[in-house]
Amino acid sequence: MSTNTFNSAKKGGISVDTEHIFPIIKKWLYSEKDIFLREIVSNASDAITKLRRLESLGIRDGGDESYRITVSLDPDEKTLTVSDNGIGMTEEELTKYICNIALSGAVDFISKYEGENDGAKNGIIGHFGLGFYSAFMVSDRVEVITKSYTDAPAVHWSCDESGEYETDSSDRTERGTSVIMHISEEEGEYLSASKIRSMLEKYCSFMPVEIYFENLSEEKKEGEEEKPVNEIHPLWQKPASECTDEDYKDFYSKVFHDFREPLFHIHINADYPLNFKGILYFPKLANEYETIEGQVKLYYNQVYVADNIKEVIPDYLLMLRGVLDCPELPLNVSRSYLQTNTYVSKVSAHIVKKVADKLTSLCNNERERYAKVWQDIAPFVEYACMKDKKFYDRTKKALLLTLTDGTALTYEEYLDAAKEKHENTVYYATDKALQAQYLSMFEEEGIRVALFDKPIDTQFASMLEQYMGSVKFLRVDADVADALKGDGAVSENESVKALFSDLVKEGTELKFDALKDPSVPAILTVSEQSRRMEEMMRFYNMGEEHTFPTESKLVLNTASPLLSKLGEIAESEPEKAKEMASYIYKVSLLSQKKFSAEEMQSFMKDSYDLLMKL
Ligand code: ADP
Repeated sequence: MSTNTFNSAKKGGISVDTEHIFPIIKKWLYSEKDIFLREIVSNASDAITKLRRLESLGIRDGGDESYRITVSLDPDEKTLTVSDNGIGMTEEELTKYICNIALSGAVDFISKYEGENDGAKNGIIGHFGLGFYSAFMVSDRVEVITKSYTDAPAVHWSCDESGEYETDSSDRTERGTSVIMHISEEEGEYLSASKIRSMLEKYCSFMPVEIYFENLSEEKKEGEEEKPVNEIHPLWQKPASECTDEDYKDFYSKVFHDFREPLFHIHINADYPLNFKGILYFPKLANEYETIEGQVKLYYNQVYVADNIKEVIPDYLLMLRGVLDCPELPLNVSRSYLQTNTYVSKVSAHIVKKVADKLTSLCNNERERYAKVWQDIAPFVEYACMKDKKFYDRTKKALLLTLTDGTALTYEEYLDAAKEKHENTVYYATDKALQAQYLSMFEEEGIRVALFDKPIDTQFASMLEQYMGSVKFLRVDADVADALKGDGAVSENESVKALFSDLVKEGTELKFDALKDPSVPAILTVSEQSRRMEEMMRFYNMGEEHTFPTESKLVLNTASPLLSKLGEIAESEPEKAKEMASYIYKVSLLSQKKFSAEEMQSFMKDSYDLLMKL
């Protein structure tokens, strides 16, 4: 029982180097000013949580009282007030918790880290219990009117920006605390209702006590039902078994203001020792050019901390959207703290594992749906695999290969089916139209071809070659696959060879082969290795200066009637034969690469000349 009475007003100064701390609070935390509201509201929420704890311990009987926090804005009086009906403070407690900032270490710490990044600055507020003082970032005077849940008298405390304070009695009768912030002249934006609303939405949307916002300059509408600005039981706190698909979708659209449905979600509920909860979503992108910018919000016991903390979730997963609640982390996390904290790296590893497990389970149990979403997630998953071998190891069985006909198979399925015809080889096309000639030959032989039409696909394939050991990736125009060759005898014709050797680029090998498909007289191939090298050169803009000899081959198909005809006239009608060979060569070039303007013109001229001769 307290016997405190107020005979006269008392004056004092915030102890321990206040001249140091006040200017620092006002100036130093400049970039994150909005945080003050989170600090004051979360103190109010803590005060209510403490009272609830007393009830659950049977120390106090709260009856069916409802707890609430009210944030009221009075633009005329230039005040912003946060009131709670929580545990309150006695004068003694107020002096102990508010007037004596436990600063012995804080001042040293601040001078040591002055000039460091914002993360370190924010660390200070949490570390040294300075949260309350963040109110001075925006106020030139702060008042606290508080009445403890005990029968101690109410206290009124008022402190100006220099740290000078006054304590006095108050006639407050209801239990709880009001923090009245007199917003300073230059911080006028905090007197705007929309600004306060958006700050409450950002920082307090899921705090565990109902928060009501009132703007005293607006008349209350008659009969209008009061609605809290927050949701006190966020979805992530519920067990996954109690949440429906609809719940997850609603939560997503509410938190991320995205009307498109997410592709799928992962609900994480990690027990001791990690002890964190969260929901992650794979967002649906409107088109492939949309910037991939995810948002993973970090919370501390339902209080918003920050977005996209890459120490908690690896950057290659930052295209995800979601929420994580880590009560084991301090409310104010500093970058340097996170980087060296083993708990944080364990949380991050756990998230990676959960994402990989989800992909594998979708692949095994919901293949149809998974194959559909694969089109959207493939670039992310492939990128993640390239960034982190562990992620690859966990997801490798869930990686899909999209074929030219749109079906998607796992690598194992593709390779198993291909065993007879082309063991350990994955054939791929990068451009269905350009490579149509080759594709039709593969199709004819029942060889399925993967479609690598995104820039990341071929890089990913090179990575897979390293990890999968014996598996090779070959573009359809890299070589004439054995399966495409027939068993007919190959008869070489020297005069035909001579015709083509005048045409091909230096270094191009001429080879006779009997292909199964008789409709193609000649086919040009460029070896996989040399093409990849050329692509790399182009990528690094080295193409012009460093021309790299490409290993190309012109395969002359002895099974083609057109080639036989060429053989017949090669000697008797040399001019005609020359024209014919040149045309065949140009057509083979056309399927290998896009023509330059010059090449296209010459090809069109040849075509018209041919028509004239009909
Ligand atoms: P922290 O919350 O990190 O301890 P603060 O500076 O924010 O540091 O607050 C200091 C202390 O003041 C709190 O621990 C609490 O005991 C007391 N306090 C602050 N706000 C309230 C409130 N609304 N109701 C009751 N006690 C409060």
